[in-house]
Amino acid sequence: MHCGCGGRNCESIQARRVGPPDRKVVSVETFLGEPIAPGFAVGPLRVGKRCTSIPRSVDSAASDPCSEIDRFQRQVCELEREITEAVERLESAALHAEAEIMRTHLMLLRDPELHGQVRELIEISRYGAEAAVEQVLENLAAMLGYAEDPVLAERAADVRDLAMRLAAGFSQQGISDPAAAESETRDAILALPELMPSIVLEARDRGVVGFVVGRGTSVSHGAILAKSFGIPVVRVARLESVAQFSGRQVLVWGGGEVLVEPTETELAERRPSEQIPPDEGRKAGVPIRLWVSIVDPDQLEALDWTGIEGVGLYRSEALFMRHRQAFPSEEVQFQTYRKLFDLAGDRPVVFRTTDLGADKPVEHMRLGPQENPCLGLRAHRLFRFHPEILITQIRALLRAAVGAHELRLMYPMIESIDQLRFVQGLVDEAIQSLGDEGQTFQRDFRQGVLIETPSAAWSFARLLQAVDFASIGTNDLVQYLFAVERNAANVADLYQPEHPITLQVIHALAEQAARAGKPLSICGEMAADTTILPVLVGLGVTDISVAPGAGDNVRRGLESLDEAACQQLAKRCLEADSLADVRGLLGRSPRINKRRPAMSETEAVDPVCGMVVSTSDNSYVVRLGGVAHYFCSRSCMTRFLSGPNADRKR
Ligand code: PEP
Ligand code: MG
Repeated sequence: MHCGCGGRNCESIQARRVGPPDRKVVSVETFLGEPIAPGFAVGPLRVGKRCTSIPRSVDSAASDPCSEIDRFQRQVCELEREITEAVERLESAALHAEAEIMRTHLMLLRDPELHGQVRELIEISRYGAEAAVEQVLENLAAMLGYAEDPVLAERAADVRDLAMRLAAGFSQQGISDPAAAESETRDAILALPELMPSIVLEARDRGVVGFVVGRGTSVSHGAILAKSFGIPVVRVARLESVAQFSGRQVLVWGGGEVLVEPTETELAERRPSEQIPPDEGRKAGVPIRLWVSIVDPDQLEALDWTGIEGVGLYRSEALFMRHRQAFPSEEVQFQTYRKLFDLAGDRPVVFRTTDLGADKPVEHMRLGPQENPCLGLRAHRLFRFHPEILITQIRALLRAAVGAHELRLMYPMIESIDQLRFVQGLVDEAIQSLGDEGQTFQRDFRQGVLIETPSAAWSFARLLQAVDFASIGTNDLVQYLFAVERNAANVADLYQPEHPITLQVIHALAEQAARAGKPLSICGEMAADTTILPVLVGLGVTDISVAPGAGDNVRRGLESLDEAACQQLAKRCLEADSLADVRGLLGRSPRINKRRPAMSETEAVDPVCGMVVSTSDNSYVVRLGGVAHYFCSRSCMTRFLSGPNADRKR
């Protein structure tokens, strides 16, 4: 037996090594290690060939600095392309937090300081491209490795990852595979010195089911990715000792053990029970219920309901936005909502009353003078002029919900108890009219409030007295809390869901909901972010609702959580000073993009000041060699034309 625990648990393992010598009662070898990512996986052991320390390059002298710089830049472009592809693949699988990890690699790769240092070594010290990259990244990795903060120290692995990939590119080998051919890695356990993000992505594509590593901690980006993908990882003290069992059947148990040729009993002792439905299992781990957010009942048709409580948010305004000439009639609404309840069956449905206005415009209506639609006529504010919009919707809804259906009616954008009473008054009117007409309709439903404004958060205790449940719409709450438009490119860095202030607000809301004994969910985008999920759990949120595409990933994330650890992490995040500190605690790059890049054809980046500007109706434009450059002002345009581009004018 080999042990990485310094004595911990050794005796219990020794004690299992008894029994007649001719019968296999224990594994051939047991290694105790540190749990890095939870889970259970059995497969043949493969030893990764990929080098995970920065290679010593052979060339150190460059005869032609220009061509060396050119080689460096070409490698950077190539790697940028590969990482961008990886980001896109992760995004399209709704793995947003995982994509964010790979974005930090892109940021590092594009870092002007890094480029400056490499250029300096090539131009002044006459290094070859490989040697310059190696030197700069090795220094950076060493510096990070010495950081006291364990999260920051783990970023050294990201730097080494980039260094390895650049080195592989220079040597024209491409990214060498972790352990030979795919047929060998499928369903295999991979032993590696260190878990790097690119290795986890590559290994996942190749069907690797578990990792044994020699270094790294559970807050490394590689570990975070492995947790997202449900791949167990254990770190052992002496990797060589494990590696000698290459080809043998090995169990990696995320509790911190690696067993070579485990016995059936040993497997059974560690195997997660398949009898337990995922729903029950999750509740036993962390007390969080998972819901699905939809914009159209059709999304429920192909939905796998395993582990899903019900519809946590139906954004009913989507139907209104599809009707461009007029509001949908009561009959059209009735048909749509009927389909919703038919597909949901007896599962609860949180039906959000229509939230029109601001980013959800009504094409057939003029909403009057308002400089900032986000602060203007929106949701129930529209009902002050057109109460029939809500009354018609409630009539259609209550008629459609007849039967064994569980309706939870939720009111968005409520500012205070006055607006809640106003909306509830209109709901009463709808009920009254249905009753007067002798219609059959659902009378038994719960009511809830969506907390999206600071004033609602501030008066939450009062609002809770008037409702049965509540949800936090973090997309809007963050927007109004920080007074930053949620889609505005130039202030994207000020939209801060993970900021300690946001977390403190969520925490205060969770405490009040718990005191009132009422469930509190989060239905904003941040609920689907698996890096922040442990914090939300630790803050006391009881329910989360995410888009159907994010469900699997979030479910896996929830399964791997430990409540006490979540509470610890949440406490540290609440006490943090800044967004960067929280990001560090979550294992993300402490630096965030100042702005999001120009996203559409009608947007471009001003090459002088870096602002994202509109291309339509913008007269500050210069065309050079067929390329149009757009500016925010005459001053930037003039600076551009008087700079190095002066001789290329028009
Ligand atoms: C929110 O604001 O978080 C929310 C769920 O509502 P919306 O549809 O405005 O994103
Ligand atoms: Mg909202």
